[in-house]
Amino acid sequence: MEKKIKIALLKGDGIGIDVAEAAKVVIDQTLETKKITQFDYYEIKTGAKYYQKTGLDIEPGGEEMTEQCDAILLGAIGLPSIRTAEGTEIMPHLRLRERMDLYAAVRPVRVYSNSTQRLIDPRAEKIDLIILRENTEGLFYTASTSGRSQIANDYEVRETLRITRSNTEKLHRFAFRLAEKRKEQGKNALLTCVDKANVFKSMAFFRKIFDEISIEFPAIETSYNHVDAQALDMIRRPWEFGVLVMENIFGDILSDLGGGIIGGMGMAPCAEIGDHNALFQPSHGTAPDIMGQDLANPLAGILAGSMMLDYLAEKFDDQSLADCSKMIDRNIERGFHEERLRPYELGGDMGTRAITEEVIALICEADR
Ligand code: ATP
Repeated sequence: MEKKIKIALLKGDGIGIDVAEAAKVVIDQTLETKKITQFDYYEIKTGAKYYQKTGLDIEPGGEEMTEQCDAILLGAIGLPSIRTAEGTEIMPHLRLRERMDLYAAVRPVRVYSNSTQRLIDPRAEKIDLIILRENTEGLFYTASTSGRSQIANDYEVRETLRITRSNTEKLHRFAFRLAEKRKEQGKNALLTCVDKANVFKSMAFFRKIFDEISIEFPAIETSYNHVDAQALDMIRRPWEFGVLVMENIFGDILSDLGGGIIGGMGMAPCAEIGDHNALFQPSHGTAPDIMGQDLANPLAGILAGSMMLDYLAEKFDDQSLADCSKMIDRNIERGFHEERLRPYELGGDMGTRAITEEVIALICEADR
């Protein structure tokens, strides 16, 4: 490929810095192994520490620069100890989501062999589903930094859950296409609309649009589940689901539950995708309780990097990048299978650096 791909790198705070660096070195090694031109990284200063120093949550021009790149790799942003005058944490990434209209957050929940399983049922080995979280509206429409709360005083706070037709149509189409892709790969492609349509008009609207879009995809099997029942089913029978599409706050909560059933948040990557750009990050936060101790599991960040390669492969119609993505995924699978990946997070004996080095070793060996 002639074009040099531009990646915005936003490491952020806490373990975000470590896992973003881990993702970058694994990507660089994989490109080198496959003899593909290295990416150009543009590191953008952002995060709570940066805010504490400068009063800005992202460097001047950083949002524009990020938008001009072909994809964004992010660690995690925010520290509970550093707050704005209103008492909330800084969240420049929420602005980036809105600015680039990254409406679809794809969060795979997948069990690897020999990795910790929190569920006793042997069928839990088969968990391989995707939580598709709406990413720009829902209850996050009035997220603290948006300044959109209708009432916010010492007697009452009132916030809005927003569902728009234009965004929801795009989200559901994305969900059906994802289910189609999974069907092609021979995976469970059941698409479930997760909502609370029995109680809220907004949710009945969300489901109505799901039904309308489903007519365009007759080959995809669909079902519905109320979000509370879905929380129960994430424990009772998660192996029966393929793709779960839902409103923003529901996706926020259920994806942590998803991270929990597959061992921990360090196993949960996330891709936030829009029509023109996409951001890749682990689903977890900055984990201040373990930062600076080499305890973080970098695999969610590394798997997010692999999702970025897959996205770029499609964006630039370049099969070699898709091969790189598969190479990372396959070697993480192999690493668990051969018990060479044993993160502390899952009760093992390997920290951030050791896991990253082992993933690189697996990739280099696989190429020999
Ligand atoms: P946010 O709201 O920003 O998502 P959070 O408050 O949900 O953050 P996380 O930072 O995601 O919190 O961490 C939740 C828990 O999971 C913490 O106990 C943390 O130590 C643990 N954790 C998160 N990510 C990892 C990781 N990569 N490796 C090991 N443990 C992790």
